[in-house]
Amino acid sequence: MNVSVVLFTADLRLHDHPPLRAANESREVVPLFVRDRAVMDAGFAVPNRLAFLADCLHDLDGGLRKRGGRLVVRSGDVVEEVCKVAAETDADEVHLAGDVSAYAHLRERRLRRALEAEGRRLHVHDTVTTAVTPGEVTPASSDHFAVFTPYFRQWSGVPLRDVLAAPRTVRVPEGVGSEELPSRAGISVVSEGLAAGGETEARSRMCAWLRGGIGAYEDRHDDLAGDATSRFSPHLHFGTLSPVELVQRARTVEGPGPEAFVRQLAWRDFHRQVLAARPGAATADYRTKRDRWRSEYAARADIEAWKTGRTGYPVVDAAMRQLRHEGWMHNRGRLLAASFLAKTLYVDWRVGARHFLDLLVDGDVANNQLNWQWMAGTGTDTRPNRVLNPVTQAKRYDPDGEYVRRWVPELASLEGPAIHEPWKLRGLDRAALDDYPDPIVELSEGLARFKQARGRD
Ligand SMILES: Cc1cc2nc3c(=O)[nH]c(=O)nc-3n(C[C@H](O)[C@H](O)[C@H](O)COP(=O)(O)OP(=O)(O)OC[C@H]3O[C@@H](n4cnc5c(N)ncnc54)[C@H](O)[C@@H]3O)c2cc1C
Repeated sequence: MNVSVVLFTADLRLHDHPPLRAANESREVVPLFVRDRAVMDAGFAVPNRLAFLADCLHDLDGGLRKRGGRLVVRSGDVVEEVCKVAAETDADEVHLAGDVSAYAHLRERRLRRALEAEGRRLHVHDTVTTAVTPGEVTPASSDHFAVFTPYFRQWSGVPLRDVLAAPRTVRVPEGVGSEELPSRAGISVVSEGLAAGGETEARSRMCAWLRGGIGAYEDRHDDLAGDATSRFSPHLHFGTLSPVELVQRARTVEGPGPEAFVRQLAWRDFHRQVLAARPGAATADYRTKRDRWRSEYAARADIEAWKTGRTGYPVVDAAMRQLRHEGWMHNRGRLLAASFLAKTLYVDWRVGARHFLDLLVDGDVANNQLNWQWMAGTGTDTRPNRVLNPVTQAKRYDPDGEYVRRWVPELASLEGPAIHEPWKLRGLDRAALDDYPDPIVELSEGLARFKQARGRD
């Protein structure tokens, strides 16, 4: 029995944590988080996610301290830092959760090589960041599923491992140096309405959700104003909730709500198995349509209007303003905002995906890039040329206009569904709407341009 290092990455929790469980069988454990220079330099460390991360690290440290341990934080090159800590503590093994991005694979390979050169072992654990391991279910003819429905059928039949309790005690070797934990207060330009992070918060939300919200999920998940989804996405992104535990516990609740909720968790695994098999899909079209997108320069005014929530389409603007204010957006809003940028404005999906990643607290390479590709029709959608009409969709998913009224105060005086088409107002009524803009494009014009670009006119 010796010393083990647990390298925490996107799994910032103590409950249902296979690496920690395995490492805790050693005499002593070093729970380590490295502020990885490569992640910082690649532009992924944006204020909203850094602030949420700070909450997560504080909470993880607090949970470890209650168990007799503490979190060790270092900054720099992740491989060098792990090797340093392993050498300082004479650890003979390092435990890590498996992950799917090209960067995660590279990190794993580099770590294995460096540790083995020093006579130490790397253990990579599955089913920490996904419920079902990418590659565990595959179609006969490929290394991954490109269509969700058959994936879901097989995914549903995979027996999940048991949920693991949090450890009772964690013994950390004496004298291991740690940097100070980052604090949310030290991070500027954070969205005003950003949610709180950390496993304690996540678990209390999970308990409330399983007792209440999940039951109505099937009926209400698209209700923009109702805000009746779980809001677990940042917790799943940072791993303060375990996907295995969520699926297991949701399956103990009867009814269509939990079933629909589990299906969404399967979408998350679906995108992860696509990215694991095709890491290039983070930046390149998964299924190219040979688009010749408008140049960013030519479309710059439209892009700016979209980013600032001033397209003149109230539901799109509401969604984009929610993103800026909360660092989070309702799924229906994400679909509408993405369809509008990529199809109606015919702007490259990467421009939109980048903006989302700059602000989303749950901003995630697999989910963000592949959902953007899905909506742009370059991904796994079996109807790649569908275009969402923001007016019809708004009337359906925000029938009283409450969502728009919440996020677009210039229109707050408008009653009922009329709020979705302010350009139809005449004279003084229109003039009273402060400076809310006219639509930046006619929907029919946008549709015609898109159809022509895709050879469908
Ligand atoms: C253009 C676009 C960009 C997106 N970017 C991200 C992103 O960066 N990070 C992210 O986590 N999700 C992203 N999504 C997926 C989805 O919108 C969010 O996961 C969801 O809105 C989060 O809210 P929730 O936790 O309340 O979800 P719920 O509806 O309560 O669903 C529960 C969980 O299921 C998963 N899930 C739900 N819908 C999807 C989906 N379409 N694809 C994959 N997983 C899903 C999420 O982990 C979510 O937390 C994006 C969707 C679109 C259309």
